[in-house]
Amino acid sequence: MDGIKQDAARLVLMNPGPVVVDERVRQALLQPDLCHREPEFSQLMTRVREKITRACGGDDLYTAVIFTGSGTAALEAALTSVVPPDGKILIIDNGYYGERLLKIVSIHGIPHEHLQFEWAEQIDLKVLDRVLAKDGAISHVCMVHHETSTGMLNPVHDAGKVVSARMRSLIVDAVSSLGGEDLNVKRDQIDICIATGNKCLEGFPGISFVCLRRALAETLKSVPPRTFYLDLYSQYVAEEIDRSPAFTPAVQTLYALDEAIDIMLEEGIERRSARYRLLAGRLRAGLMDLGLRIMVPENQRSNTLTAVHLPDGVNYENLHDELKAAGFIIYPAQATLKGKLFRLANMGRITEQDIDEFLRALQESVIRLAAKAP
Ligand SMILES: *Cc1c(COP(=O)(O)O)cnc(C)c1O
Repeated sequence: MDGIKQDAARLVLMNPGPVVVDERVRQALLQPDLCHREPEFSQLMTRVREKITRACGGDDLYTAVIFTGSGTAALEAALTSVVPPDGKILIIDNGYYGERLLKIVSIHGIPHEHLQFEWAEQIDLKVLDRVLAKDGAISHVCMVHHETSTGMLNPVHDAGKVVSARMRSLIVDAVSSLGGEDLNVKRDQIDICIATGNKCLEGFPGISFVCLRRALAETLKSVPPRTFYLDLYSQYVAEEIDRSPAFTPAVQTLYALDEAIDIMLEEGIERRSARYRLLAGRLRAGLMDLGLRIMVPENQRSNTLTAVHLPDGVNYENLHDELKAAGFIIYPAQATLKGKLFRLANMGRITEQDIDEFLRALQESVIRLAAKAP
């Protein structure tokens, strides 16, 4: 693949973002200093908002609001800004990121219900439909598209059908799926979609965003703000009406995101997902050759993350350190999975050669560590 710098000191990041970026994205940071109240910034912001809307599959009926902050900032903005005081949000949860959604609405005292499944248990849409039929107070449903804690891909398209048939609004945490999976706000009947610049869009950390229906954005005026900084409506007004950001944005990160989205649109969103799928397939085949066990069943796996059981007698920290010395960054599992599994992402400018070299390094590390084990 071209555009990838062959650098001996390059660390292959197999954590789920931030990712290894294209050199064009890195170079985009080095543009002239710019005041965010100048027309040049206004144009940059508007251009990126339009490209984000397109990347989400939105048309003129959709718009995007950008935030300076990691993915959680945009998530918290959406969750705190859209549910009216007399509404209620249903949180669907089958992993760590589902639990986080629940934490956010709990902290802000937002009326909510919790539809809980086991980690990596498939979401049962019949149960969702029953809950919506029974509880007329539920105005919004929120779910995670790609559960980055387990690597499970959740059925957003079919959930969209259920939620829309019950006339409720669907909010999707697409932080780790946008750019890596088949996702289209219009087709999937998603009202509010949240994602970030530094995962499958392959930009730098610092910018996240909410893509939502324009008509819905206009109605947010009637929801009293629960936070000052993360108020979606006032940031929408600033960006869309005033064409100027509400606060000081991460200017250089936005330059880089503009370039990163250009690269994605040049590559093609479908072709990027296909590239990730091939890399994941190569990685998973290699892991199975090594006798390692993957957590999620094959037909429910995402294109970008694999949660793997640690081999017997191998401690995560030791494996991490061995692989880091070989040039690869692996990622721990969370909560109760910690110490039992580890995670491998294949987002960003990772090549087939990287995957092959990683698998060789993994095999050698496991042999070495197992030999040392008591
Ligand atoms: C990464 C991620 C987030 C947000 O994490 P940040 O560290 O705030 O960027 C939220 N949801 C999912 C599913 C994620 O993978």
